[in-house]
Amino acid sequence: MTTAMSARSVQHFIAGAFEDSAESAPIDRSAPATDEVVSVVQAGGPVEVSRAVAAARAAFDDGPWPRMTGMERSVLIGRVADLIERDAATLAALDAEEVGKPIRLAEGDIAGAVGLWRYAASLALTMSGSTYTNNGPDFTGLVLREPIGVVGLIVPWNFPALILSQKLPFALAAGCTAIVKPSELTSSSAQHIMRLTEEAGFPRGVIGMVVGDGRAGQAIAEADGIDLVSFTGSTATGRRVLAASAGNLKKLSLELGGNAANVVFADADLEDAAAGVVFGVNFNNGECCVSQPRLLVEDAVADDFVAEVARQTALLRVGQPMDPRTDVGALIHAGHREKVTSYIDGASGDGAAVIFGGTRLTEGELGRGQFVAPTVIDRVAAGSAAFQDEIFGPVLTVTRFHDQDEAVRLANGVQYGLANSVWSKSVDTVLQVAKRLQSGTVYANTTIDAPPQMPFGGYKASGVGREMGQAGFEEFTELKSVNIRTGKRAGTFAIRAGA
Ligand code: NAP
Repeated sequence: MTTAMSARSVQHFIAGAFEDSAESAPIDRSAPATDEVVSVVQAGGPVEVSRAVAAARAAFDDGPWPRMTGMERSVLIGRVADLIERDAATLAALDAEEVGKPIRLAEGDIAGAVGLWRYAASLALTMSGSTYTNNGPDFTGLVLREPIGVVGLIVPWNFPALILSQKLPFALAAGCTAIVKPSELTSSSAQHIMRLTEEAGFPRGVIGMVVGDGRAGQAIAEADGIDLVSFTGSTATGRRVLAASAGNLKKLSLELGGNAANVVFADADLEDAAAGVVFGVNFNNGECCVSQPRLLVEDAVADDFVAEVARQTALLRVGQPMDPRTDVGALIHAGHREKVTSYIDGASGDGAAVIFGGTRLTEGELGRGQFVAPTVIDRVAAGSAAFQDEIFGPVLTVTRFHDQDEAVRLANGVQYGLANSVWSKSVDTVLQVAKRLQSGTVYANTTIDAPPQMPFGGYKASGVGREMGQAGFEEFTELKSVNIRTGKRAGTFAIRAGA
């Protein structure tokens, strides 16, 4: 590992000021494609979190933000959208470098982030409750929708700016104040967005950020002054967040791991489906919660289809993240690369065979980084670790099925339930399978996509709650029932019989 002269400093953002940790030594982050230190991140923990909570608490309990009109909040959120759009190239470069993802994809993430801030700005205008006129002639029932309070937003490394934007603007639109905790591996774009919120004119303390490793996240999960934690990350860490949050019974939204299937029926547009399968598993280097690492293909077309998938996989260009010709970049760090290749090594045998890729790439400049060849493993058994676990790399397993029942059983036969795809020209098949799949999202004749107005989240071990859409916005709110008596009728409070 070498240190670049221009390594960025990433600081906490507390009560409207950027600052270092008083005690802990900072963390070096090296780019996964070059092994050069590109950022030096402050290591926050309980001390910084409790100061950030105090600032966010004061901004919520006594500050102007929750008391502003929806229009006023919408204007500020929309201004951040414009600023992210203005700085899109800078933000995309930060995420491409620190994640190791291709720059074209990072640019797509930032365009997606702009859309999320714009959509959330519109939600600030529509925040509403409901009225009941059927509680009897003397009563009117109001259901008020209110901001839940101070929220902690814990973000993973794979889509730093995008996932932050799936949370922060929605919380702000609801009138909450927020503390962001990005991954220590990829904090630079979050710091840039903090600067943009400052430029947009958010009141002091409404938005804070504590950077650092899991200790900062743990302190957020434990903090009594936080009313809700919205966490995105692995299922294992999600369970720790659930346990840590018990102290004040805070509300939780957990967006966790996935292990999606691409279910391809013989009557699908097979050319389109093959392109979708190759995209679905290699998008974002395979480091995506809705990656589709399991291909389930109907027996009748399996041999030709798998050959076509392998042919298209061979066309992918693995390379440096900043090269616009790169399709697949570097994995997040050496430990993760080893985990991915260990699944490939362990998958052979029991009739399974690696038919493309299967190795770390070490030629030339790729040798300095964490590059793994896009890989296809055929005839993988449903009980194997490669089928069951979230590999989180550019590795496709292929399993064949005879009929719809077997396809659905295989697709649902893992602990996760985040997203799946079904490919068929028959509307009957698409709808029948979509209804039977146990996942929060089903793509039909398409693959990874997430419009901001569609709720997103998991069944089973993939999570609790929803992000995005109206449902995601409402996660950041509480409902209060107010039953108003307007008439005065004798006997209303008659507790004594006959009174
Ligand atoms: P992770 O290790 O669970 O970390 C997620 C975040 O939690 C990071 O900011 C991490 O900080 C922090 N953290 C670590 N330990 C913590 C603790 N004890 N308490 C609170 N926070 C803690 O996940 P990851 O490796 O970054 O991300 C990959 C995983 O996220 C995959 O499983 C993927 O499927 C999942 N994911 C899910 C979705 C979804 O929407 N469902 C989207 C994207 C990713 P540090 O990184 O600094 O340690």
